[in-house]
Amino acid sequence: MIKFYNSLTRRKEDVPYHENKVIKMYSCGPTVYYYPHIGNFRAYLFMDNIRRVLKYNGFTLDGVMNITDVGHLTSDADEGEDKMLVASQREKKSPWEIAKFYTEVFMKDAKALNIDLPEHIVPATSVIEEMVEFVKGLLEKGYAYETSKGIYFDIAKFKEYGALSGMDINEKLAGARIDVDEEKHSPYDFVLWVKAPKEHIMQWESPWGMGYPGWHIECSVIGDKFLGETIDIHTGGVDHKPVHHENEIAQSNCYYGHQVVKMWMHLEFLQIDGGKMSKSLGNLYTLKDLADRGYEAETFRYFYFMAHYSKQQNFTFDALDMAKNTLKSIKILVKEHKNGTNQIDTSDYEAEFLEAINDDLNMPKAIATVLKMLKEERSMNVYETFLEFNEVLGLNLEESDDIPAEVKEKAEARWQAKKNRDYAAADALRNEISALGFEIKDSKDGYDILKK
Ligand code: AMP
Ligand code: ZN
Repeated sequence: MIKFYNSLTRRKEDVPYHENKVIKMYSCGPTVYYYPHIGNFRAYLFMDNIRRVLKYNGFTLDGVMNITDVGHLTSDADEGEDKMLVASQREKKSPWEIAKFYTEVFMKDAKALNIDLPEHIVPATSVIEEMVEFVKGLLEKGYAYETSKGIYFDIAKFKEYGALSGMDINEKLAGARIDVDEEKHSPYDFVLWVKAPKEHIMQWESPWGMGYPGWHIECSVIGDKFLGETIDIHTGGVDHKPVHHENEIAQSNCYYGHQVVKMWMHLEFLQIDGGKMSKSLGNLYTLKDLADRGYEAETFRYFYFMAHYSKQQNFTFDALDMAKNTLKSIKILVKEHKNGTNQIDTSDYEAEFLEAINDDLNMPKAIATVLKMLKEERSMNVYETFLEFNEVLGLNLEESDDIPAEVKEKAEARWQAKKNRDYAAADALRNEISALGFEIKDSKDGYDILKK
């Protein structure tokens, strides 16, 4: 039995599913206005983790992830500027070019991390018509109202508002600062559709004139369009709980008149050196930053397994080194087991692994089981069981075998040349290796050969 922690009910519950063991799962996706950082990727590794564990248990996934390419303001609420427009001014490109470029960066990084991506990946701008229809529906049903600035959701009409994050909206209202927008019924009413000023770059026709969608509406509409009116699991980072997901619940549940998402799952944040990641502190790392320091994307994938998703995880380069070394030994051991001649009964390990992953994705425990098993006498059975576990872990076992002998020899010769301080020879060999489609990443005590 799989039990996951449902943030809405605040307890571990059986995983809900549709007919034929299909699980409909929605994951809030990236806002494509900048390079995604490793904190963002913790969120997508979490999604990957859920998907793979469910598949391991025989479920079929019907998953959706949105790509936010309009409407996400610099605050998660209705304040600030549209992140896409800020990027567009910063880079002197159109918002469409910005979206295309950073969507490609995201997909490339996700591939490098071997993230099992959802079946549907949907940009917000591809569902503008559906968003307009949804907003119209909310207006007709009396859950929204129009002002001179746009269409707003009337949170007073949804009594359960705040249930996910445990906020008491009346208490919050009593302490709220006076909203500058006097047309709004309540300061916490949020925008569904914004009436655009003429100069606004991204705008579409609507019954309320030219405009653009608020941020939250895309997730309700994309979920509705691709998964229907009952979604089994919805994922996102904890930062989404108090605004984005409360608003999504309000919109969707009012539109349908029933609870749409059965299970909400939230990932705690990745911290850097015990603190918040921020551009100004210079500690906001991307996968490329890690690669420049000699770490493959897969090392970060393994790093994800070292903490439970519901706890903050602290990123340090020492911890990443630990991940790198363990991963290296795992691969060596797996290879040894492949040629092993002993017979080992792995059924206890299989049961232990399954129990760990099905207990709210306890990956640290699952990994401990894997490491324990790999210490067994070398055996083909262990190798085969590892391959099964690897459906969940998603590690790349083939890569080192894929490297041609010629490349390996050149890499070794280059390493020796470097050690002998013959940098000209080392550089020449690096170029030869590059021409063969591989690159060398040096680390403190050796080097890795990577496919380009
Ligand atoms: P964004 O592209 O800003 O919409 O964020 C994409 C995803 O990354 C969201 O699900 C956030 O919750 C998540 N996220 C942002 N920062 C972090 C972090 N430091 N650790 C984990 N997840 C994060
Ligand atoms: Zn969302």
